[in-house]
Amino acid sequence: MRNAQDLQMTYDLNDAFERAAANEAIKVIILAGADPHFSAGHDLSGKSSKTWEDFSQVTAWGSFDPPGAEGRYARESEIYLGMTERWRNVPKPTIAAVQGKCIAGGLMLAWACDIIIASEDAEFRDPVVEMGVCGVEFFAHPWELGPRKAKELLFTADWLSAEEAKQLGMVNQVVLREELSDSALAMAERIAKKPLFALKLTKEAVNQTQDAMGRPTAMSGVFSLHQLCHSHNMQVHGIPMDPNGLPESMRGRFVKKPDPEAAD
Ligand code: ZN
Repeated sequence: MRNAQDLQMTYDLNDAFERAAANEAIKVIILAGADPHFSAGHDLSGKSSKTWEDFSQVTAWGSFDPPGAEGRYARESEIYLGMTERWRNVPKPTIAAVQGKCIAGGLMLAWACDIIIASEDAEFRDPVVEMGVCGVEFFAHPWELGPRKAKELLFTADWLSAEEAKQLGMVNQVVLREELSDSALAMAERIAKKPLFALKLTKEAVNQTQDAMGRPTAMSGVFSLHQLCHSHNMQVHGIPMDPNGLPESMRGRFVKKPDPEAAD
């Protein structure tokens, strides 16, 4: 999978953000993907041999092992909602450089950043409604796109082009593919000329303004709805997603062996 996000990548990313935040020589952080596509989203393949115990937890929810909603709630609180919120609040300007496909969990990675620069071929999509779930765990869609477009994106699972995402205010700049890293770097260099503490407080000011509008409260409420979807699918289908919306190859695997580790 193209840059699919598994446990290892999640904790590696968290370490990288923390190192960059702690390093006084770094003023601006760029998040980029090396593959042709920025991110295929969360890794549903279940191929990773690592478990939650192999990593230091950043929230207090603890074990992912209990069956049913308990383990899943802990897992998704920690590695999806918790981590994305943590990265969104890294106290230095962050820039996502997005090319190719940016799908579902990939949106969360881009949205966590302060600035999004996309190449012309970048496309965004959240298809998880097809899998019986009401959008990805970090439910920023209405904040990023406005309520009406957020509904359309989720209801239809259609692709959103880089240009349209820019028109909606989700993307800051659209550039040629071959100019993507230079454009991100040029933006970072311009920002890095400013005093760091003022940059930190400016980020806080915008984030606090958005949070004063109710974003964290709305997101934690929606996270509960997201968990309700998983539990509903477990009751009806025996797996945390509607198998009709999963790719054929994955469907068999889930039906044969329900696996909370792969319950996105
Ligand atoms: Zn989930």
